[in-house]
Amino acid sequence: MTIAGRKVKATSTPVAGIVDVESFYRTILDTVDTLVVALDREGRVAYFNRACEQVTGYSAEEVLGRNGPELFLPPEERYGVKRVIDDIYSGQAPNNYVNHWVTKDGSRRLFVWTNNAIFDNDGAVRLLIGTGIDITERQRLQQRFSDAIESMQDGFALYDADDRLVQCNARYLEMWAPIKDHVANGVTFREFCGLAWDHGMVVGTDSTRDEWLETRMQQHAAANGVIERQMSSDRWVRITESRTSDGGIVTIATDITAEKKTEAALRESEQQFKDYAESASDWFWEMGPDLRITYMSDRVEQATGRPVAWHIGKTREELAENDGDPAHWRQHRETLANRQPFRDFEYRRRHPNGHIQWFATSGAPRFDADGRFLGYRGAAREITSRRQVQQDLETAQRRLQDAIASSPAGIMMFDANDRLVNWNDAFIEMFPHQAKLLQPGVAFSEFLGNTVRLGAVAYGEATAEDWARSRNRSHRQAAKAVEVSMADGRWFLISERRTSDGGIIMICTDITAMKQAELELKRSNAELDQFASAASHDLQEPLRKVLAFGDLLQSEYAELLPDQACDYIANMQSASSRMRQLINDLLSLSRISTDAEPFATVDLTLAAHYAVGLIEQSVADSGGRIEFEQLCTIEAAETQMVQLLQNLLGNALKYHRDGVPPVIRITSAVRPRADICELRIEDNGIGFDEKHAEQIFGVFQRLHGREDFEGTGIGLAICKKIVERHGGRISATSTKGAGSVFLIELPIRQTAKVREHG
Ligand code: ADP
Repeated sequence: MTIAGRKVKATSTPVAGIVDVESFYRTILDTVDTLVVALDREGRVAYFNRACEQVTGYSAEEVLGRNGPELFLPPEERYGVKRVIDDIYSGQAPNNYVNHWVTKDGSRRLFVWTNNAIFDNDGAVRLLIGTGIDITERQRLQQRFSDAIESMQDGFALYDADDRLVQCNARYLEMWAPIKDHVANGVTFREFCGLAWDHGMVVGTDSTRDEWLETRMQQHAAANGVIERQMSSDRWVRITESRTSDGGIVTIATDITAEKKTEAALRESEQQFKDYAESASDWFWEMGPDLRITYMSDRVEQATGRPVAWHIGKTREELAENDGDPAHWRQHRETLANRQPFRDFEYRRRHPNGHIQWFATSGAPRFDADGRFLGYRGAAREITSRRQVQQDLETAQRRLQDAIASSPAGIMMFDANDRLVNWNDAFIEMFPHQAKLLQPGVAFSEFLGNTVRLGAVAYGEATAEDWARSRNRSHRQAAKAVEVSMADGRWFLISERRTSDGGIIMICTDITAMKQAELELKRSNAELDQFASAASHDLQEPLRKVLAFGDLLQSEYAELLPDQACDYIANMQSASSRMRQLINDLLSLSRISTDAEPFATVDLTLAAHYAVGLIEQSVADSGGRIEFEQLCTIEAAETQMVQLLQNLLGNALKYHRDGVPPVIRITSAVRPRADICELRIEDNGIGFDEKHAEQIFGVFQRLHGREDFEGTGIGLAICKKIVERHGGRISATSTKGAGSVFLIELPIRQTAKVREHG
């Protein structure tokens, strides 16, 4: 505000009715609160009114004629004031000025001065009249107010009645940082809002600029609300507006970002809690202090088929159906009476559709601030299928227990750590001496060690340690049944299988009777072999004689005998040589076990070479070939391996197709992890009907007549006996008219200490 300088003429015009005009003005000047001081050209005080005296503590007498600026002004302001005085004396009128005066007691006061000039009749400035208002207190208040709003945490803005910004604090500008350079005192609130919109500071609204401005202006004009505004993607302010007594509006902006974030986090965690709770339960419930249901969440209907209202007012026992377990309920009643929390209390009830349902409910007591019991609150879920599974499991377990208990076989069960879990009475009956070793948790190896120490097992040629090691291994593999002979002469077949939980179930069957029969059979077979061997040996002698005399008869009397007789002799000779062949073959068969040579390391490649050498002529005659490369090396009886190969190769040559030269392949492979050599003899001969694949290994079993192929039907029986003596197996596959494959599986090592059944 600038007040234009007025030229005031010194006047002597008397005021109507007043005689002493000067005294009249003087009185007025001395009664006003305004300071009035007159300075001459040199700055000397020419007039000093009462107000001046009161404010400065100087009397008019003391100051009149003295240099005003020097007397009253603090040194740093003197220059400024002097320029004001000069300006006025030179006719300019910047006559509004604020400066301090130092009072007589040395304190400072602030004045706003309006300076006027008094001209003489020539128009020259005669005196400078300053009228001053003491604004020390106002200034102090203003400063205090400014300090206060600056120290506010919140943004502060004051708009006047014309809605123009009067004052705002730094915090306010900081909140509106993008537009702070455009905001200055005097800007209208509408302009301010427009700037905020234009600088992208209005987010989270679908309105247009004008719509938003209109709404915002209405809110502002009402000035009685609280608005929460998102300032940017991650900042929020709360704006509180109120009207001042002079029609202005005060805006307080509080940064509530942290609050909003906490609120969001809280909402999220509440939601999460709700999600957890809901996923862990089917419905929620509340009980009053009388333990009657006061609340059920809606989902109860879906789970139980009964509406919420059906439940309200009932106790848990009234909700459930008698499950014939009074102790269970008694305990629950006690828990409730003691106001204790409970977890997974199970009860059952019939669904309206007639099915029995099982539920599990958990709850916690509630108390008010004074510790008064308010009831319970909790959650429940349906567990029918779980109960069902549990029951099935229990039934299965019971059945298993029964089966184990009633099994005539001795059973032991070990867990995944190979510790004894369970055994049955049959086992104890079988091994009464080991009964004291049966302790739950005992390790299999420990049980075995103690069994060996008890001297219960007959290990044959093996040492106790070797036997235990081998038995431990077969137990861990749990793949094959093993035969164990006991010191008391009994035999057991022990089969072991892995259970799905990694344990082992061991089943012991008493095979003493079978074993005895087997031994008996072996013995009688051996006797038979011996008999056959002796018989065939003994038969050879008379046969040789028959043949020899037949030869003599032919060579010396052929000419004397009629042709008919010669034919008879020839037939007789042929039958005799066939018989010799039969006897030789039978002898070979019986010798396999009687004259057995010991096992040694045999390179089957060499054995094949020998065998091929023995049938070289037949190979040449047939125009065929035998192919083989490197074969396995195994532990075996060498001559028997040669014989085996010779028989098979001989057959492969013999049973070739007309006009198709025989091609025979011998291959071998080691079966991984099983220590088994697989030998294949493959031919391209006439083949046979596969239904005879087993039969051909029997003694005298022939598929082809003597007219077509020579033979005794013993060759493959010999092969089978050799292979079995080595603990192996022989089998054949064939396609009639295309060829045959003979497959021989032989153990690479002959260590049958614990005889295993495959
Ligand atoms: P044989 O002295 O008759 O050859 P084997 O015991 O060696 O007696 O063979 C039994 C029967 O098996 C044979 O008579 C023949 O019918 C059939 N046989 C054996 N080997 C072969 C083969 N490689 N191809 C076709 N048939 C075969």
